[in-house]
Amino acid sequence: MHAETRIRKEGTAWQAELARTYARLDDLLPALGLTAADCGVSAEAAASFPLRVPRGFVARMRHGDPHDPLLRQVLPVTAEHAVVPGFGTDPVGDLDSVRAPGLLQKYAGRALLVTTGACAVHCRYCFRRAFPYPGHSTTPGVLGTALAAIAADDSLQEIILSGGDPLALGNDRLAGIVHALGRIPHVARIRLHTRLPVVLPERIDAELLELLRSAGKPVVTVIHANHASEISAEVISALVRLRPVSAALLNQSVLLRGVNDSVDALTTLSTQLFSAGVLPYYLHQLDRVAGAAHFLVPDDEAIALHAAMAAKLPGYLVPKLVREIAGAEAKTPLGNFGAT
Ligand SMILES: *Cc1c(COP(=O)(O)O)cnc(C)c1O
Ligand code: SF4
Repeated sequence: MHAETRIRKEGTAWQAELARTYARLDDLLPALGLTAADCGVSAEAAASFPLRVPRGFVARMRHGDPHDPLLRQVLPVTAEHAVVPGFGTDPVGDLDSVRAPGLLQKYAGRALLVTTGACAVHCRYCFRRAFPYPGHSTTPGVLGTALAAIAADDSLQEIILSGGDPLALGNDRLAGIVHALGRIPHVARIRLHTRLPVVLPERIDAELLELLRSAGKPVVTVIHANHASEISAEVISALVRLRPVSAALLNQSVLLRGVNDSVDALTTLSTQLFSAGVLPYYLHQLDRVAGAAHFLVPDDEAIALHAAMAAKLPGYLVPKLVREIAGAEAKTPLGNFGAT
């Protein structure tokens, strides 16, 4: 088969998989042998932030277990209705950091492009679950404005492609962004923040790898996995392919009650990531977004878990435990600095 035809076919494979994501509780629950009554689901929560989960991710869940750590991350539940003081719609000050449509800057030397509002999975604890994407993402119409702002500011050495999920974009749109950044001389690094390699490993196809290889700048890839059960054989194979085209391959996690709030879950995640060629980067304390309060692990417990991890693992397998504080100069470490 002609190489180009083969690549196109692979491209449509991941898009077909994306189109098959579960979007209805009535489809998801029976597939897992569960009923609505088993798991406290909420149609109202699903209406405000829709259920979305790829089939391959569901296949890694334990059948019949309403407490499965992967299921808890994606299941709309009644606990989301709780109104908890301190939990709001813009927990990390995103809207105060907008420099141009779709371009957020909080820290020196690096800025973040909201490339799309789309994700392959909807994580219930997502700090951007209420983000007003229509006015604040780089749709093709406003991308030029964001790129012009980057080109005009030579302090911006690193651009982070975020979203949503930048790999939810098709390769044509993604290539347009990556190559435009590649042509800006002062941009020294391009970073991808993506959960697609974990939730839809089919996305890491030959065409994407070629695109990243041709970026013209080192690409730092930061994936997002929270539990070792997310790292299936298909995910490992996708990560092994991503590694040679990435200047660094890192993971960030969120500390989540009922998902990974044990020393065993966290250490197993780190060692499993390592076997896939990925180093842990950040373990985020939960961002206080409305609807996610039931995932909160108190700071003293988070610090104790992190210390227990450090007592069991080599230093390079211990992620930094951080919290994002609106207006701070960087993510803020917990523990040593007493930032509780
Ligand atoms: C988290 C974040 C970054 C990245 O911070 P690092 O510490 O470099 O990983 C950059 N920009 C924004 C707006 C962020 O929220
Ligand atoms: S993949 Fe990331 S941006 Fe998308 S819903 Fe999950 S946490 Fe939010």
